[in-house]
Order: sequence, then structure tokens, then C-alpha cells
Amino acid sequence: MNPKRILVVGAGHVGLYAALRLSKKLSSREAEVIVVDPQPHMTYQPFLPEASAGNISPRHSVVPLRRELRRCKVVAGAVTRIDHERKTAVVQPIVGPTREITYDHVVVAPGSVSRTLPIPGLHEHGIGFKTIGEAIYLRNHVLDRLDVAAATTDPEVRRSALTFVFVGGGYAGIEALAEMEDMARDALRYYPELEPSDMRWVLVEATQRVLPEVDRDMGAYTVQQLLKRDMDIRLDTRLESCVDGVVKLSDGDSFRSDTIVWTAGVKPSPMLDATDFPREERRRITCLPTLQVVDGDRVVEGAWSAGDCAAVPDLTKPPGDYCSPSAQHAVRQAHRMADNIVAVIRGREPVNYKHKHAGSVASLGLHKGVAQVYGIKMTGWPAWFMHRTYHMSRIPSFNRKVRVVVDWTLAFVLKREVVALGQLHDPREEFAEASQPRAKS
Ligand SMILES: Cc1cc2nc3c(=O)[nH]c(=O)nc-3n(C[C@H](O)[C@H](O)[C@H](O)COP(=O)(O)OP(=O)(O)OC[C@H]3O[C@@H](n4cnc5c(N)ncnc54)[C@H](O)[C@@H]3O)c2cc1C
Repeated sequence: MNPKRILVVGAGHVGLYAALRLSKKLSSREAEVIVVDPQPHMTYQPFLPEASAGNISPRHSVVPLRRELRRCKVVAGAVTRIDHERKTAVVQPIVGPTREITYDHVVVAPGSVSRTLPIPGLHEHGIGFKTIGEAIYLRNHVLDRLDVAAATTDPEVRRSALTFVFVGGGYAGIEALAEMEDMARDALRYYPELEPSDMRWVLVEATQRVLPEVDRDMGAYTVQQLLKRDMDIRLDTRLESCVDGVVKLSDGDSFRSDTIVWTAGVKPSPMLDATDFPREERRRITCLPTLQVVDGDRVVEGAWSAGDCAAVPDLTKPPGDYCSPSAQHAVRQAHRMADNIVAVIRGREPVNYKHKHAGSVASLGLHKGVAQVYGIKMTGWPAWFMHRTYHMSRIPSFNRKVRVVVDWTLAFVLKREVVALGQLHDPREEFAEASQPRAKS
């Protein structure tokens, strides 16, 4: 028989794990696995707050695709269109013209993007927190603002530099806010010109609680901990505008800030608009519990999806509930999906995905955390320790695990680095200035 071609769109939590498992379980006579992603690495997103805070090296919070997926063909590019009727995807490589790839099975896993609102000034001044680039930019930016505040004599410039606004109180927002504040507070020991009370860290959350992934009392505990650190927590409040860096909130307050981080939820990848897959009202691809794409009650043969871009029924909850967008589900769905693709190729029946969400762990800075796992609630150091051990066990490959543990140990023994490398974001500036043709004098 001819080997089946399996095209994996996106090498994130779903794509990387699915491709790894498929390439291990299927021989080259049975299938070839092609993985398309514009990034050369998978980003382990739960480590972004720690990478941003300097506890983990950015390179160690990502997983290089070519190193891990040696038995797959990796294409550096973005899938821009899928015509499943013709079982054909259009790929835009990172360089050169587009090309078509035909397939027998497609794994659609491009994940999600930040869900934004048409808030004046947000497009110009806001930044998301979903990619390694954003996390490292934010780190350099926050440390750079400390330098600006220490150098200026203008109280307005100083206030704006030291005001940091985070919009959205899910785990991404809370962890990013808490880790960045912890890092900045740590850095202040080297800034005799600045006091911790000069900084203002603001959380803007539209609902009445934070961390909806855990029980209300754990959300309330988190708010208390952040308040103890003098953070400005605005619940039931929305960002209304941030034109020219002037933040206007729905409670009537208004102030300047150089830093506006948007972490208020995600929506499925817009790439799905250029496909012929069926989708539900939140624009996710409709799936069966087997991770097969389904149109009404017709299984779309050869199409599979999972993770943030897929509506997968949660069989541990009442009918009508879907799995939450989380790494926890994404990785487990990837395994189930890969096993199901192998089963279908070998003429067997696919099996339903069923996993009861174990709970959540969140870091609130060094030695601080909150966790609720299988109903057991933990706070402070034990929760933080659990956060680290859990994610260390989940990041793919032994190589990454060792590197992450070494980073943590070094930061513990030698203290973390708190230097801004903002030049990374504009590396040619100095050379361009030096090589500028000058008029002869
Ligand atoms: C800061 C942060 C912290 C988090 N912490 C936790 C946590 O503690 N616990 C937890 O369970 N979850 C956590 N999550 C959520 C979790 O990371 C996501 O739910 C998970 O990554 C979803 O996996 P995915 O494979 O669907 O998408 P992703 O992992 O985002 O992967 C999508 C991949 O598709 C690629 N791609 C996009 N478009 C295209 C295209 N057109 N063509 C080809 N490739 C494409 C992208 O480059 C990316 O590699 C966190 C998320 C963030 C942002």
C-alpha cells in the first residue's frame, strides 16, 4: 500500500505531540508526517511568565521542532488555506511562492490568537502575552522603564514609566502580572533612585473575580495576595481607551502608562476562515469526542482537530459542555488523536477522548502560588512548588527538562539577572548610525 500523507497544521501543544506520536507509531511504509509551522519551535506557553521574569532562559521555554521531530518533514511556513473537499492545503513558506500540499489526513491545530476589542489606542499601545517574542519584549521593556524612571527628572515621565497595566485576570494575565512585579521589585535593589512604592501595578478585570479556572475562594485568595503587594486590582472594570498612553477605565479613573498588556482571552486562529471546515458560534471547528471533525452528524473523513481552535465535547460534563482551551487538554487530546489516526489507518475504530480537567496551578512570583488540583487546594510555597514540578514534568523532552531545572537552580544560587537587553529589538541602530555616509568637512 502507498504510505498515507498526514499534514499537521501548527506545531504547538497539539501539533508537536500529535506529530511525535504519529511518527513513532507509524512506519514509513504506513505514513509520512509533514508538519507546517511558521515558527522553528513549539512554545511551552505556561512557562512564558517565568521566561519573562528571567527565571528560565527564553531558549529553554521553547522546543526546537527539527531536533524533536526527526522522523517528520518540517516545513517553515504558514498554512493560508485548506480546501478539504480536494484534500489540499496552501502553504506560504517563510520565503518564496506559495505551494500546495495534498494529504490523506489533516490535523488542524493552529491554536488561537489574542481576542481583542475595538478599544481606542489599544492597537497602537497594547501588547499581548502569547508568544516568546512578546514575553521577552515585555521583560526588556519593564526593566527599561525602571532605567527611564531612574534617569528622568520629570515626575510625569517617571509616573508613566512606573505604571504597568494588565487587562484580563485569567491565569495568563495573573501570572504575567505577578511574575513581572516580582522581578521589578527584585530589580529595584540596584536602583537607589527608586522605591517599590513608586511603582504602580494595575490589573483591570471586567468580571467580579480572577482565575475563573479555580474556585471562588482561591480567586479571592489570589486577589488578597496581590493587594498585599500593593497592587491596584480593579474588578468589574473595563479598559475604555488608551489613546497616546492615557488609560481610561470604566470606573472613571484615568492615568498615563507606558505599559498596557492585553491578556483578556483568546479566539480561534483567523486562518480557519480560509478553510471549508464546519464551525460553531465561537468559530471553533466542530469535533466529535474522537477528535474527528464533524459536520452536523456527518464525520468529515480525514479531518482532525484539537486544542484552542477546536470545540471538543467534554464527556466528563453535562452534554453541551466543551473542553476548555488549556495545555492540559491540548496535550492529552493530541495523544488520543494520534492513536485514533493510527487506528483508522489500520482499519480500526477510533476511541473517544475523555479527561476530567485536573485543575490549575499558577505561579504568583518566586515562592508564591495558588493551586487547585483534583479538588485539593494549595497556596503559597507548596502551590508554587507544585506549579514548577507539574510544568517541568509536562515540557516535552528530557533535554528541555534538564535545561529548565538548571536555569531554576542557577537563579536560586546566583539570583536572577535583571538587566534590560532592549537593544535586541533594534540591533542595527548602532551600526546604521556608524555606517551613515557623512558629508566631508
Ligand atoms: C501565558 C500563558 C500561560 C498559560 N498557562 C497555562 C497553564 O498553566 N496551564 C494550561 O493548561 N494552559 C495554559 N495556557 C494555555 C495553553 O498554552 C494553550 O491552551 C495551548 O497552547 C493550546 O495548544 P494548541 O496546540 O491549540 O495551540 P498552540 O500551542 O498555541 O500552538 C499553535 C501553533 O500553530 C502555529 N500556527 C498558527 N497559525 C498557523 C498557520 N496558519 N499555519 C501553520 N502553523 C500555524 C503557531 O505558530 C503555534 O506553533 C497558557 C497560555 C498562555 C498564553
